[in-house]
Amino acid sequence: MEKNFSIAVVVEHDRNGIKPVTFEVLNAARKIARSITAYYFSSNPEVDTQPLIEGGADEVRVCIHPDYEQYIHETYAAGLITEINKSRPDMIFLSASNNGKELAAEVATRLQVGLATDCIDLQLSEKGEVLIKRPVFSGKAHSMSRLSGPQPYLVTLRPNVFRGEGFEETRNGEIVKEAINLPDFSQIVKGLTREVGAELDITEARIIVSGGLGMQGPENFKLLEDLAEVLGAAVAASRPVVDNGWQEYSHQVGQTGRTVSPDLYIACGISGAVQHLAGMSSSRCIVAINSDPHAAIFSIADYGIVGDALKIVPLLTQEFKNILKS
Ligand SMILES: Cc1cc2nc3c(=O)[nH]c(=O)nc-3n(C[C@H](O)[C@H](O)[C@H](O)COP(=O)(O)OP(=O)(O)OC[C@H]3O[C@@H](n4cnc5c(N)ncnc54)[C@H](O)[C@@H]3O)c2cc1C
Repeated sequence: MEKNFSIAVVVEHDRNGIKPVTFEVLNAARKIARSITAYYFSSNPEVDTQPLIEGGADEVRVCIHPDYEQYIHETYAAGLITEINKSRPDMIFLSASNNGKELAAEVATRLQVGLATDCIDLQLSEKGEVLIKRPVFSGKAHSMSRLSGPQPYLVTLRPNVFRGEGFEETRNGEIVKEAINLPDFSQIVKGLTREVGAELDITEARIIVSGGLGMQGPENFKLLEDLAEVLGAAVAASRPVVDNGWQEYSHQVGQTGRTVSPDLYIACGISGAVQHLAGMSSSRCIVAINSDPHAAIFSIADYGIVGDALKIVPLLTQEFKNILKS
């Protein structure tokens, strides 16, 4: 089936540059796109756009405004709608990261167009329509949706699913850099005190160290942070941990928290309730540490360690330190 769609991809970036999820979104777009435009909202006109071309974009539009020094969904939504109205793509692809989900929902509502969330596969039908596969009922089933109705269609793609074909250094593309006009967002921009993007978003992390009530108290999450630091991982938690105020809600995994698909999920002192599994069962490798050999988490774990997490986690941290140093 001929690839017939012009697709726009929203670039996610932070102080370390373009986030890996952006290249996953480009990979997904390449499966069905005739042409791909990457929208890069930035305060810095000197951003490096070449990786986006090598990752699959045919055109990169860098939209420059001082308000884009940090991610704020109001400024991004205003810029994205301006760009959509200018270049009229058939579809907009974003990562189903925290920022991507928020932005897609706002733009779909304002444009009154359809949004397919948390896509894990996409195909072209015989008739050339786009078919989107999405998990439903907390991951117990999959639904196939056909996109129709007014365009552009918005699609968010689950992080860590559309891993790349790699970069093609020989690819060429067009780079357009333009200042963009935005409404006055000074109240919002100045009022925002929390630093955005300082922590690894758990939905994007390739390794997650996650703690449950079995960690016994908030002070013991330091053990998980130490292990996470050695592995370059993000720290996550079960819901009661968040309800108790030991961790922030943005760290909660599960039915009423985030859905994650990392390469490695280390569950420490987590029983494995269905509502928790709903958010992490698609992890590629699951390691469970639990003092109860009958804990439900062991039924889906690839590797299980029966014992006290407070003793085992520091041993793992030391062991990984030794291995990764050599
Ligand atoms: C509508 C609804 C939505 C929900 N959404 C979510 C959600 O999004 N995410 C979520 O996580 N939960 C959710 N829950 C709650 C869920 O049902 C469980 O109650 C919760 O996941 C249990 O968290 P836990 O495993 O940390 O605690 P527990 O179930 O209390 O398990 C603690 C585990 O730690 C082990 N343990 C104890 N001490 C140690 C030790 N020293 N070393 C090692 N292991 C130890 C125990 O053996 C036990 O298995 C939801 C519930 C409902 C009803």
